[in-house]
Amino acid sequence: MNPQFPFQPIAEYRAHESEILAAMKRVGDSGHYILGPEVTAFEKEFAAAIGATHAVGVANGTDALVLALRALGIGAGDTVITVSHTAVATVMAIELAGAEPLLVDIEPKSFTLDVNKLAGTLKQNRSRKIKAVIPVHLYGHPADMTAILEIARANNLRVIEDCAQAHGAKIGGKTVGTFGDLAAFSFYPTKNLGAIGDGGAVLTNDAALAQRVRELRQYGWRSRYISDTTGMNSRLDELQAAILRVKLPHLRRDNARRRELAQIYFDAIGAPNFSSARSSAELQRADLKIGVPSVGAGCEHVFHQYVVRSPPRDALAEFLKSHGVPTAVHYPQPVHTQPAYLNRVVTGAGGLAESERACREVLSLPMHGYLTNEAVQFAAKEISEFRA
Ligand SMILES: *Cc1c(COP(=O)(O)O)cnc(C)c1O
Repeated sequence: MNPQFPFQPIAEYRAHESEILAAMKRVGDSGHYILGPEVTAFEKEFAAAIGATHAVGVANGTDALVLALRALGIGAGDTVITVSHTAVATVMAIELAGAEPLLVDIEPKSFTLDVNKLAGTLKQNRSRKIKAVIPVHLYGHPADMTAILEIARANNLRVIEDCAQAHGAKIGGKTVGTFGDLAAFSFYPTKNLGAIGDGGAVLTNDAALAQRVRELRQYGWRSRYISDTTGMNSRLDELQAAILRVKLPHLRRDNARRRELAQIYFDAIGAPNFSSARSSAELQRADLKIGVPSVGAGCEHVFHQYVVRSPPRDALAEFLKSHGVPTAVHYPQPVHTQPAYLNRVVTGAGGLAESERACREVLSLPMHGYLTNEAVQFAAKEISEFRA
């Protein structure tokens, strides 16, 4: 019999079911359902887990980005740089805040913001009011924060990290979400830390920015019923906070487990990684058909996804599906070519060829902390069969 590939949200629920039910009962019995003790406690615990001073619980990861932008006073007339190879939410959030997105290409090994193209884009767009950059730690691999912070400092840009796929990822021992001015996290059920519903958080080490986010998430209130600014309604609810408090203590172990499973893929699929075969042509010429992920020097990857690059991607996905191995494509189309953004969104220096190539080649293999070794070994064996 083929091994099972349970969907992550239900697998995590089953693994912690009795604790989750107890937490839900605790909230029900408390009679306090919005912005109460569970949210306050989770904010403290999550900030401590990541290594930031302040966390503000919000309704979802998109809102976390919008609130971070608004807390910085970024809106109409301003431009914000991010990537096109990301969840559409990153780009959508910039427009929701009233600003204009400017999309820059990715670096092909890490799938994250290409810092050389960021620098080139800033040079080419001197007339725009570029206020911030949002690096996305895509698939759980950190963006090059050292270089990004240096460029940001030199160009007077604020930095908001999109950490929706990278809870616990590190660069040189420092956790992502602590590098920029603010960071946005999502607790959508499939993220490395997921609720049973929607949730998000904004992290920052700046007390004044944290206070701004707290006001903005609830009608712009500084004190009850009195709006100081026009805010939003974007609260994390008590039930989700209580559930997240059950799951947070397992984040480190879950991420370690993802790395163990990634190692099974690395060992079974073998070389090369993207550093030795960077282009589709190289992959095809060597008849490798597949390239495994790179992990940057000093980076701790949390494998939100284990993403291989394969020029015959659709054939590989079809083969795996027919052999009982579910896969997914993150993402099939870069944001700048999607109907809502096509011919409308501004793109950066050097074009977006790597973003477009990634969307043709990427395939996410089964990956989460509750899969068995046998399931991943089976998936890896089927990949070897496809290559043979
Ligand atoms: C999931 C995700 C978001 C949005 O989070 P939601 O909670 O779904 O609003 C933003 N950015 C990235 C990179 C994501 O993966």
